[in-house]
Amino acid sequence: MSTLYKGISSLALTGESFGDVLVVENAALAVADGKVLYAGPASKAPACDQEIDLGGRSVIPGFVDSHAHLIFAGERSEEFASRITGKPYAAGGIRTTVRATRAASDEELRANAEKLIAEFYASGITQFEIKSGYGLDVETELRSLKIAAEHTQHTTFLGAHVVPEGVQRADYIKSVTGEMLQAVRPYAKWIDVFCDQGAFSVEETKQILEAGIAAGLKPRLHANQIANLGVIPLAVELNCASVDHATHLTAEDIAVLSGSNTVVTLLPGAEFSTKSPYPDARRLASAGITLAIATDCNPGSSYTTSMPFCIAVAVREMGLTPEQALWAATRGGAKALRTEGGSLEVGASADFVVLDAPSHVFLSYRPGVQLVSQTYIAGRRVFERQ
Ligand SMILES: [Zn+2]
Repeated sequence: MSTLYKGISSLALTGESFGDVLVVENAALAVADGKVLYAGPASKAPACDQEIDLGGRSVIPGFVDSHAHLIFAGERSEEFASRITGKPYAAGGIRTTVRATRAASDEELRANAEKLIAEFYASGITQFEIKSGYGLDVETELRSLKIAAEHTQHTTFLGAHVVPEGVQRADYIKSVTGEMLQAVRPYAKWIDVFCDQGAFSVEETKQILEAGIAAGLKPRLHANQIANLGVIPLAVELNCASVDHATHLTAEDIAVLSGSNTVVTLLPGAEFSTKSPYPDARRLASAGITLAIATDCNPGSSYTTSMPFCIAVAVREMGLTPEQALWAATRGGAKALRTEGGSLEVGASADFVVLDAPSHVFLSYRPGVQLVSQTYIAGRRVFERQ
């Protein structure tokens, strides 16, 4: 069964290199067996079994969210309200969510994650990562990753989020690199560490990532959000798929990242919600660094599931062009997960988003407006705006 989507005012096609977006006007998209059969000018589209007229809407690849913390319980609106009046963000707020998460049942954690995933679909996200990191004991980290693995292949063990209350630092690191790692290993693809002031040092990060790699996990990092502890050379040396946040970087860090295999993932929702300085994405882009944009959805520092919001902030506050931001939120996210996706090349999974707008530029031009009309994964509609 093949379907031709026609009446597309503009179709954004993402290329291999950062920021490479080709916009085709008066376009069509053909899908067969869940894969892209054709994406290009309507005049050259193949005949299909059925046709759907999108009435002048635009089409973009589905967003790939490479950084999301969806397994937790509770919320921290009071902390947000106090912070917004001037109190700076401290990593310790994570411990509030840890208490709620440990107390929650699997059913509660699963229901909360599924509610957020439904929001992801409504925001045009078609592939996403899920991290643990609010259990911080063997039992709850394991429960978290089991639930994560029910919903995505991109699962990340973030036992090294912070040191939990009531545990000695050395004992906790011993568990994260030993018993906890061995328990979660069957359910985790990635290992992540929050390497920052108030979280883990560069030495500890090295120890934890190396233990994860030895256990067959692939490394990625939260780093340089609050301060620059000097972890960037290590991240590149260990072949981290991505360094996320990266607000504070030296010229030397930028030189090391440029030309490396490590993506820098921007998390605009985090700086927005914590009133923190934004990374200079334009500077990173000029240095030839591959950028991704992710939601960082979590109840403390970035409680958003909206990729269009993150794109709008990246364009307005970080200096990306609308094309660079679109690329970063699609193909960039896929590169940060070292997976396929974020592209409508022939043969790719038909993951795409229909926007109630004439082009992708409207994502940042009309901030805060729900422009996602329909979301498709492998040719199947998972969201339609009523
Ligand atoms: Zn995060």
